[in-house]
Amino acid sequence: MDAKIVLLPGDGIGPEVVAEGQKALNAVARKFGHRWEFETCLIGGCAIDATGSALPDVTTVACKQSHAILLGAVGGPKWDDPRAKTRPEAGLLKIRKELQLFANVRPVKAYDVLVDASPLKREIVAGVDILFFRELTGGIYFGESGRRPHSSGEEAFNTMIYNTGEIERITRMAARAAQGRRKKLTQVDKANVLEVSRLWREVSQRVVRDEFPDVQYEVLLVDAMAMHLISKPKCFDVIVTENLFGDILTDEGAMLPGSMGMLPSASLGSSGPGLYEPIHGSAPDIAGKGIANPLATILAVAMLLRHSLSLETEARAVEAAVDTVLNAGHRTTDIAAGGKSVSTSEMGSLVEAQITKS
Ligand code: NAD
Repeated sequence: MDAKIVLLPGDGIGPEVVAEGQKALNAVARKFGHRWEFETCLIGGCAIDATGSALPDVTTVACKQSHAILLGAVGGPKWDDPRAKTRPEAGLLKIRKELQLFANVRPVKAYDVLVDASPLKREIVAGVDILFFRELTGGIYFGESGRRPHSSGEEAFNTMIYNTGEIERITRMAARAAQGRRKKLTQVDKANVLEVSRLWREVSQRVVRDEFPDVQYEVLLVDAMAMHLISKPKCFDVIVTENLFGDILTDEGAMLPGSMGMLPSASLGSSGPGLYEPIHGSAPDIAGKGIANPLATILAVAMLLRHSLSLETEARAVEAAVDTVLNAGHRTTDIAAGGKSVSTSEMGSLVEAQITKS
């Protein structure tokens, strides 16, 4: 297969981890006979420095013409001035919007050899394997908002708004994923209070009943979910929810495996390229030291192969290589629990060698 992949290294540790993701992609190309055309573009703080914009037009054009995008991270103290005209995160929000990426997909998997890095007890975390679908382009983050005078000073408001089509498309995506896994879908809402949640419940229930009869469907209130996620996370397979609840729950879920450096994510639309990235930020505290964990980015590469290029065997080869390297005892500092560790590029090379050998 020939594919065009845009690399958006971004800021801080972004370039360090994307370089290791590219190594994994090259190993897959050599092993399975594919050819990737890479184009590296600017996004975030480095793009502001070079062009004044967090998302230069040439980046948008390159992304739109690609099959998939691999992003590092954006942001850092240099661009944190609240009075700044533009901020690095604006680049991220804009590219998601330009590409109509409405679903954020986050696997949360506990690696047995790393379970003791979790803040939770081993018996709760071991075996956790959850796939989150968070709606990304609707809800309270995008509804009408504002401020108006009030007798006590001011009042402010945000509006949560969703339509049937927005709920149907992400429910379908999540239910389809559940079919390929343990066939269980949990929809999270606040239907006892919010009208928007009642629409979510009606629509998602109908979609699963009519189109995915083999998928077991359940609903949970978001407050109950916040508890269940840390008390019995093994009960969940695929979870689908709206933007605000998903924002909070996916970060809660990220704590289960114990390290930010292990979790990838994908932002997907109905068609066109997907955007793949680690869930962590630019980690300015460790940038340039060569100690960042590149595994989240390498696992994002596996998602890229699976979701944008339909290369399931290759995706599994990357995931298996990560498993093998971890099982052999190799660790970056963040997951070494004070023990012996390897550098960012050593970890990338170990995975690369394992893909080649597999
Ligand atoms: P962060 O994820 O960058 O770092 C949090 C902690 O985790 C730090 O101690 C860091 O050293 C550690 N860490 C993160 N990734 C790691 C890795 N791969 N290996 C080892 N350790 C790792 O979050 P933060 O410190 O809150 O944010 C730093 C900057 O990143 C901010 O400017 C923030 O806005 C930005 N940010 C960007 C994204 C993104 O680009 N998607 C996401 C979150 C935060």
